[in-house]
Amino acid sequence: MSSSVLVSLDHVTSCLSGYDPESLRVDDGREIIKTFSRIIAKNLTIEKLPIRDALGRVLAQDVISTINVPSHNNAAMDGYAFNSKVLSFEKNKIIELKVSGQILAGNKKNIDQLDGSCFQIMTGAIMPTNCDTVIPQEFVEVSENKIQFLRSAVKPFDNRRLKGEDLQLGTPALKSGKILKPADLGLLASLGMPEVDVFRKLRVTFFSTGDELKSIGESLPEGYVYDSNRYTIFGMLKRIGVEIVDLGVIPDDPVLLENALLSASVSSDVIITSGGVSVGEADHTKAVMKKIGDVCFWKVAMRPGRPMVFGKVWPDKDKQSEFFSLLFGLPGNPVAVMVTFYIFVREAILQMMGSNEYKSQFILVESAQSFKKKPGRTEYRRAKIIQNSNNSPCVKLTGSQGSGILSSMSEADCLVILEHDTVNVKIGDLVPVLIFDGLI
Ligand code: AMP
Ligand code: MG
Repeated sequence: MSSSVLVSLDHVTSCLSGYDPESLRVDDGREIIKTFSRIIAKNLTIEKLPIRDALGRVLAQDVISTINVPSHNNAAMDGYAFNSKVLSFEKNKIIELKVSGQILAGNKKNIDQLDGSCFQIMTGAIMPTNCDTVIPQEFVEVSENKIQFLRSAVKPFDNRRLKGEDLQLGTPALKSGKILKPADLGLLASLGMPEVDVFRKLRVTFFSTGDELKSIGESLPEGYVYDSNRYTIFGMLKRIGVEIVDLGVIPDDPVLLENALLSASVSSDVIITSGGVSVGEADHTKAVMKKIGDVCFWKVAMRPGRPMVFGKVWPDKDKQSEFFSLLFGLPGNPVAVMVTFYIFVREAILQMMGSNEYKSQFILVESAQSFKKKPGRTEYRRAKIIQNSNNSPCVKLTGSQGSGILSSMSEADCLVILEHDTVNVKIGDLVPVLIFDGLI
């Protein structure tokens, strides 16, 4: 559960011009949610972890380089190190240099280069003090203790790495708010850091609602469906790297719903429910959520995923303590739940985790087909990026787009976004696309 100064939803929504919960623009919903997730991010505690355990976690402090990486000027190729002055002094097309010795990677002492000579050097070995260029070994002819090479084969400063060119002593190597990726673990290791400060993990609790739902392992009488939302939500949360609590299926019963929400709110930063918010069903859900929280009931101008609940819930609403859980009541349809998660929940969780890289990246890709759509709502179509006849990427729908059709979502690797005011898209038009891979 998260702590914050008391900001009411009424206050936030009243600051938004044209706020209309009955037909909420996607961008407005995202803006309201962001206001709350930003507040929570400021109050996270910090823990120290061994760097391998910190993969996927959010860095809580800038990491300042305590050393130069690399720590010396060194060779980037196996070859011969020399001073580039010989390239300008020598008028000949062929350069000849005496080989004064050999330097292997890991050799400790600095070696002075003798005038007009060179050193055989291995990749990573420390450059002799006044050498600045390496000619790769494949470009030289070796005879006795001399080498010859064409002067056109190398330019001054080729094939040497400078001290501190990767990380410079005293400068930030990684900035707070970064989600640690494999390269970052390597970077921390290259600084010799065994541990790193990260924000604590968020705890996210979720459950499904619906009398018609059965869980895996139960028999499936006529009229029932297996609960798939708890598995898609699990998968999407797992990729973000939060602590996950699955409360199972809660029947459409106000008392059971209230108990589930109250128990989740005791220890969760975020609660995600699915189902029970569509017209006709919403009334008892609404009553319960209002009773225990500060919530908005939205009809979002989007497809799939129109009905949605957003707000805060407390274990004891009367106290309205500064500790609360953020509540996302998502629609029940299997694709609607995934789309609303990607559009509203994922960024919010990343922001709450303290990440400053929480924004989803939308890229523009050519459309392989034409679309028609109603203006005044944002539509998300399941699609796949393929190659067109010129071998450049284009995007094509994966099949039936009904909000319960999970198979076309399974086949998809992205969502095409048809924005609020878009009406027609022609073949070859650029459309914004949200790619699933990378939504870690
Ligand atoms: P609701 O939003 O509760 O009205 O549900 C809309 C549709 O989604 C209904 O057809 C439900 O059976 C289906 N549905 C709701 N929750 C789930 C779930 N957890 N898994 C699979 N389908 C669901
Ligand atoms: Mg339902």
